[in-house]
Amino acid sequence: MNLQQCLDVVQTLFEGRLPQASELSSFIDACAPDAFSGPVPAEAAAMESSFLAEAGLSERVFEPAPKENSLSPDDARHLRDVLFNCARRRAQEHFGNRIYIRGLIEISNICRQNCRYCGIRAGNAQAERYRLSPEQILECCEHGYGLGFRTFVLQGGEDAWFTDERLADLLRRIKSSWPDCAVTLSVGERSLASYGLLRQAGADRFLLRHETADPVHYAKLHPAAQSWQNRMNCLRALKACGYQTGAGFMVGSPWQTTDCLVEDLLFLRDFQPEMVGIGPFIPHAQTPFAGFPSGSVERTLVMVAMTRLMLPFAMLPATTALGTAAGDGRERGILAGANVLMPNLSPREARARYRLYNNKLSEGAECADNIRELRKRIQATGYEIVVDRGDFKSC
Ligand code: SF4
Repeated sequence: MNLQQCLDVVQTLFEGRLPQASELSSFIDACAPDAFSGPVPAEAAAMESSFLAEAGLSERVFEPAPKENSLSPDDARHLRDVLFNCARRRAQEHFGNRIYIRGLIEISNICRQNCRYCGIRAGNAQAERYRLSPEQILECCEHGYGLGFRTFVLQGGEDAWFTDERLADLLRRIKSSWPDCAVTLSVGERSLASYGLLRQAGADRFLLRHETADPVHYAKLHPAAQSWQNRMNCLRALKACGYQTGAGFMVGSPWQTTDCLVEDLLFLRDFQPEMVGIGPFIPHAQTPFAGFPSGSVERTLVMVAMTRLMLPFAMLPATTALGTAAGDGRERGILAGANVLMPNLSPREARARYRLYNNKLSEGAECADNIRELRKRIQATGYEIVVDRGDFKSC
């Protein structure tokens, strides 16, 4: 694909139309040819075969696409600039220069699941486990309210202690103490009845990344007990219960191809989530993916920008993973069309133990206590952090 054809794709996206899947794939490769930040380890092929066999799938061996840099590095940079400018313009049409903040409270790092990329997976015997008490969570909300947060995100592993009754009680206590605040849950896969009950108890939003829209790729990232179909069913159940629903995916996860990313875009277009979290894959030392390279920051930014053009009203965070992978990742995320930041409100000792991947940021501007530093950094990019629930609005 030459530069003019690539610019035509940006124009098509800017006009609210979606190009053909093959054009999208060539466009992503032209914008950000490197999928990974380093070489894929030698054992990747054997791992892939064994994971596919575990899932009962026929072999489909990943081959990193041969580098066909259709554009020179200068042209690719120019193309990314045009794409990010368009995404930024689209975001500014709907949100002005406002950036919404959510206070992230990591309520438990105990999890029954075994996602292969995650540092707090059940199989990681070295993870130091913790669970916040309801009182500790309420203290975090109180502290966060004083700092200007009007959304609290309760995020945790799939911890059986958090039954429907306990979570519902907690939600009611939060909503009665801070009725002007929104509560987002991010507590994994549950039943339709559970999602319904928690919604009635006051939860406004729910984040559940789809991780990959390609079921074969999903089977490589998760053990056979965790099904792609169930993840999709859960996402549909959340929408049916009336949540503002968040999907999302990692960029550069092991065995991800450009076509996987196109599948993700097509899924987002069909599902129309109200929120989308997109961050680079970053390995964790105590997981099966320890030896894999991180995903590319440029490719992540390209996916954020394309998502913004496809879903103009969506709430798109500049994710912690983006800030971890690049010192200025949050700012670059905003300049590529993101409009949300999620500083960490968890108690300091919990933050250090909620290690989803290596070197995960939880200090500095990532820490809610340093909201003034974050405000300054965001102001320097021409944006303003606002005190607002930041609900999804479709016009
Ligand atoms: S990604 Fe979530 S569900 Fe999977 S192991 Fe980690 S905390 Fe558990």
